[in-house]
Amino acid sequence: MNYLRRRLSDSTFISNLPNGYMTDLQRPDNAQPPPPGSTTPAKSPTTGPTPPATSPAPERKPQPSQSSGAGFFSSITNAVKQTAASAGLVEQTQVTTPKKFKILLVIDEPQQEWAKLFRGKKLHGDYDIKVEQAEFNEINVVAHANRTCNVNMQVLRNGTKVMRSFKPDFVLIRQHAFSMTQNEDFRNLIIGLQYGGVQCINSLESIYNLCDKPWAFAQLINTHRKLGSEKFPLIEQTFYPNYKEMVSMPSFPVVVKIGHAHSGIGKVKVDNHSKFQDIASVVALTQTYTTTEPLIDSKYDIRIQKIGTDYKAYMRTSISGNWKTNTGSAMLEQVAMTDRYKLWVDTCSEIFGGLDICAVKAIHGKDGRDFITEVVGSSMPLVGEHQAEDRQLIADMVLAAMNQSAEKEANAPQRPTTIQPSQGAGQKGEIVGEPTKNGAGHPPQANPHCQ
Ligand code: ATP
Repeated sequence: MNYLRRRLSDSTFISNLPNGYMTDLQRPDNAQPPPPGSTTPAKSPTTGPTPPATSPAPERKPQPSQSSGAGFFSSITNAVKQTAASAGLVEQTQVTTPKKFKILLVIDEPQQEWAKLFRGKKLHGDYDIKVEQAEFNEINVVAHANRTCNVNMQVLRNGTKVMRSFKPDFVLIRQHAFSMTQNEDFRNLIIGLQYGGVQCINSLESIYNLCDKPWAFAQLINTHRKLGSEKFPLIEQTFYPNYKEMVSMPSFPVVVKIGHAHSGIGKVKVDNHSKFQDIASVVALTQTYTTTEPLIDSKYDIRIQKIGTDYKAYMRTSISGNWKTNTGSAMLEQVAMTDRYKLWVDTCSEIFGGLDICAVKAIHGKDGRDFITEVVGSSMPLVGEHQAEDRQLIADMVLAAMNQSAEKEANAPQRPTTIQPSQGAGQKGEIVGEPTKNGAGHPPQANPHCQ
């Protein structure tokens, strides 16, 4: 300590330090931290009242009882202080050149590394992009009516549990927000993000609306009515709100689709009336709706995807012979985009206020007829050999949208920023585990989408 004091009394040493650095160490010994083991950051009786968060940086000259927040933090070492500050756990009052970045939250599995697609990218106003990636089951959202929205994230990275809390500026959702299989209902998080006014690709409204397949199918029925069967060959479908109504006889064979699930789950082929009644008895346990549609004697499945202005069409043929081509082994081939396919996907991309990313699914029958079955949104899995290109297209769209809102924000008239004392502003930072992947912490910062 004496050595440090000698060094600190050396004006050359001090003047060479970055602004605001080590001010705490310049306090005399009576502001020493409490003995080890003390967990309460006791306020030293010699220190004055804690100045407000916006108080200017203290003078570098040693002063017995003055420091910025010195009393409150007198129990922790400078090293801990700097770590906490860099993690954004404490409000930093001495930042002279704030690091500017916007936070992009990507909901996706960790194997898909989105951060590298945004590395080195800048937004209008010279903002960097900081990517936080997690799966739905790793996050929670708290949103307030004043458009503040905090995401709490708990992820396992290389065996270390990392907890972070931040305000996202933008969200990209690449996972299904809802499935009726166990523990896969994340619509509460979609509501939280919408409540907090966070921008998203696709829109949060469309993501919520796509959480019930029959609800989305109702939109396709409208399109079918407008365009007719020739241009928009929608499959015939019947909706049953619950098992009780499953008494009317469809013509067999049919495919019964129970509730809202993915990857072929809940889809059953039914050949006759007695099996249909059996299935109805199973539906009785699920307390959900069901749809039925004729079983198409299928040659292959069709998928037409649209990412921004990029179109691709694929056909998928079963190899293992399963009537569901998404179950067992199948062969995927890219096919030519036709005007017909383009019309399908373009009209589908208009539903629910517009889908930036979407795909139309159809079945091509052995009789040469097509049957449109479904539209899917931004959670659609990428397929085929152009997945890297598709991911890049999505990243470019996100970048363009973030840029647009940064530009809008720059041109908007300035509003005073209110900081909630319990929340602070900007990112609160990492709490446990490894240092933040993306480097330095986040200075107190107003979130344009969370105000
Ligand atoms: P995914 O999660 O892959 O989108 P899903 O759970 O939504 O799948 P569907 O796409 O409705 O399920 O059906 C799964 C597969 O079953 C389809 O890819 C198709 O091969 C087959 N299939 C679905 N409906 C029919 C039908 N009416 N006639 C014939 N085959 C069908």
